[in-house]
Amino acid sequence: MHNDRQQADVVVVGAGVAGLITARELARAGLKTLVLEARDRLGGRTWTDHRLGRDLEIGGTWLHWTQPHVWAEVNRYGLEVTRGPRSEETFWLAGEEVRRGTLDDFMNLIDPGMTRLLADTMQWIPRPDDPLRNPDLPRADAWTVQQKLDELQLTEDEKNANEAAWVGHFNAPLTQCSYVSALRWTAATAGSWHLMHESSAIFRLAGGTRSLVNAIATDAQETGRATIRLSSPVHHISHDADGASVAYGDGQTVRARRVVVTLGQNLLDSLDVTPNLPEDKLVPAQQKTASQGAKAWIRVRGPIKPFFAYSSQHHPLSVVRTEFLGEDDAVLVAFGADATRIDVNDREAVASALKVWRDDLEVLEVGGHDWMTDPHARETWLIQRPGQFTGHHRALQAPAGVLHFASGDYANIWAGFIDGAVESATRVARQVRESLT
Ligand SMILES: Cc1cc2nc3c(=O)[nH]c(=O)nc-3n(C[C@H](O)[C@H](O)[C@H](O)COP(=O)(O)OP(=O)(O)OC[C@H]3O[C@@H](n4cnc5c(N)ncnc54)[C@H](O)[C@@H]3O)c2cc1C
Repeated sequence: MHNDRQQADVVVVGAGVAGLITARELARAGLKTLVLEARDRLGGRTWTDHRLGRDLEIGGTWLHWTQPHVWAEVNRYGLEVTRGPRSEETFWLAGEEVRRGTLDDFMNLIDPGMTRLLADTMQWIPRPDDPLRNPDLPRADAWTVQQKLDELQLTEDEKNANEAAWVGHFNAPLTQCSYVSALRWTAATAGSWHLMHESSAIFRLAGGTRSLVNAIATDAQETGRATIRLSSPVHHISHDADGASVAYGDGQTVRARRVVVTLGQNLLDSLDVTPNLPEDKLVPAQQKTASQGAKAWIRVRGPIKPFFAYSSQHHPLSVVRTEFLGEDDAVLVAFGADATRIDVNDREAVASALKVWRDDLEVLEVGGHDWMTDPHARETWLIQRPGQFTGHHRALQAPAGVLHFASGDYANIWAGFIDGAVESATRVARQVRESLT
């Protein structure tokens, strides 16, 4: 084991946002850092790709100034922020009937449900940066979003509309999503559901998430102490009190004093580790996240008026909105609760899902990615099942000997977001640095 030819202070597994921030922080602290990435690209679950004639975000997209860690990065690299067109009409379903109004009409429809559902947010989570502070939280963590919505006895229209809005946020069947996930998102915006909605779904980087990812990677590499190897999947890690040996690629091995693993919750059980990772890290990996949805990009013939549309949580696509507006086309983005219900690369299937609201749109092209079957993700953005947060959050954050764990999934404030990846990596890089000095 100690005869490995290559040496590093730290090996980082994964070059998503968490891995790149970890590498930058450690390299700037003078540590020789090797990042091993399975894919042939940087960014992980953020991926700006040129499709349908535009640079589209196939994965993570929106960010906001209420997200302190990623906003500091936006400021640090001077990145430009933009937004999609404002909706000029909004469609929703009342049973089988399509209703049409303004976005404000829709927001007013969901407001009573949202307000009542989230009224006690700051009692449950008074400090989102210390989210387990309330010892009674496990009681709330037994409930699903669906149970709490059902208790409100909303009208049929309100219920449909609220459920569709939550699918847009949670990309999962609501019977599987923990109510605590909804509380955590809203606590991050001091209890305001309107601000939570804005923070998670409006503003994006003009140069794409690619601009952020490349800036961090360049910064890390310019120290001369960080090396990034693409197409280098890690297969096996064996660790002891002195360090770890990491087997990757086609037979290479590297020895390091510390390893930072940046795999999300659903991938933790995919790594072959000796001795095994602790059971309380593996249980949530085996249970899987509640999130399991689809994100589709759709180019339609224009000109059209920019619109939003909400159906129900049971339709293949629950939410659609206009994200780019051209003179003779427009590009829409859509979300559904279950990736197995729709092939986001099948034009006919996507066109038929759109017909729920409107049959006047001509679908020209579609595109997307099945993150759930992607062997290097197996996950979209983290929404946990009941019990996973209060039962496993501390275990997911904890090191196991010389192995440390950084991921957007293990963040305190904006878990499941790009912000969370920066938060978690910044903390873990500090812990690794402290453990080595
Ligand atoms: C469709 C979608 C929409 C989203 N929308 C938003 C949004 O609007 N706003 C927002 O803030 N967040 C959003 N997110 C979530 C956000 O993208 C993630 O939370 C964040 O990018 C996670 O970063 P990470 O570095 O923790 O994990 P990842 O990006 O998953 O990084 C892990 C890395 O490890 C690599 N890897 C896996 N296995 C191995 C192995 N064995 N060896 C080596 N490398 C390996 C992976 O390829 C990957 O690069 C979205 C995600 C998806 C998928």
